[in-house]
Amino acid sequence: MKLIIHGGFFSESSTNQETKKAKQDALANIVTLGYDYLKNHTALETVVYTVGLLEDNDLFNAGIGSQIQSDGKVRLSAAVMDGKTAKFSGVINVEDVKNPIEIAQHLLTYDDRVLSGDGAQNFARNNGFDYFNPITEQRQSEYEVKLNQKNNIGTVGCVALDTAGNLAAATSTGGKGFEIPCRVSDSATVAGNYANEFAGISCTGVGEDIVSGALAAKIVTRVTDGFSLKDASDKSFAELKAFDGFAGVIGIAANGDIYHVDSHPYMVWASFDVNLQVFS
Ligand code: ASP
Repeated sequence: MKLIIHGGFFSESSTNQETKKAKQDALANIVTLGYDYLKNHTALETVVYTVGLLEDNDLFNAGIGSQIQSDGKVRLSAAVMDGKTAKFSGVINVEDVKNPIEIAQHLLTYDDRVLSGDGAQNFARNNGFDYFNPITEQRQSEYEVKLNQKNNIGTVGCVALDTAGNLAAATSTGGKGFEIPCRVSDSATVAGNYANEFAGISCTGVGEDIVSGALAAKIVTRVTDGFSLKDASDKSFAELKAFDGFAGVIGIAANGDIYHVDSHPYMVWASFDVNLQVFS
């Protein structure tokens, strides 16, 4: 049984020690709750539960506390992939919901499994997901003073390996901040979130770079073809250098290997593997 989570990258505006400590404490608490949950739940149930806790914490750029797009609206994206069934589902740019990861999970049982915009919102309303405004005062004032949020990224993600040996990955984001309305994040694509029976990966960073590097799917494919998780991740990160890609990943392999790597050393993450580890 293993669990690893990330809280994205620190922003330029929030690298103060107080925020860093608050994020580390939150990650430690959430990974501990997630690991307890994993004792009696599947990897799939656990990644959704754990990403839901991260979405509910306004320190992170997912769910409540998400970044605001250039037209003043928050649009959320989230995806989940069950390594056991190889099913991927997600929502892209959905508005006015609390936990997009739960909508993504709900879509797993449908034939049409990735929905965007109004379609995603209608689906949410028709399936009992109520109106929720995820804009916090902090994000609103950041938006209003038009801070340069180019580096203010901090998606959340989780990968779990359960007692039955199954893997799952989930990722949720509010995007980059100040982006062109309806810009598509990597998080609800197979570049940002992928799992099969060999490995699970969740990414954070600049979505365009993650998509260019086909990062999550590429790492998982390499593990499937015999690479260790570390070698697969390191090789894929070396390839990002060709276009100065900015990204970070967390992952778990079916053999129990657990790994994280980032192109810039600001990513916050935590893992639970017998012992708690919190890093940034
Ligand atoms: N990957 C996300 C995006 O580009 C941002 C992040 O990871 O913080 O939308």
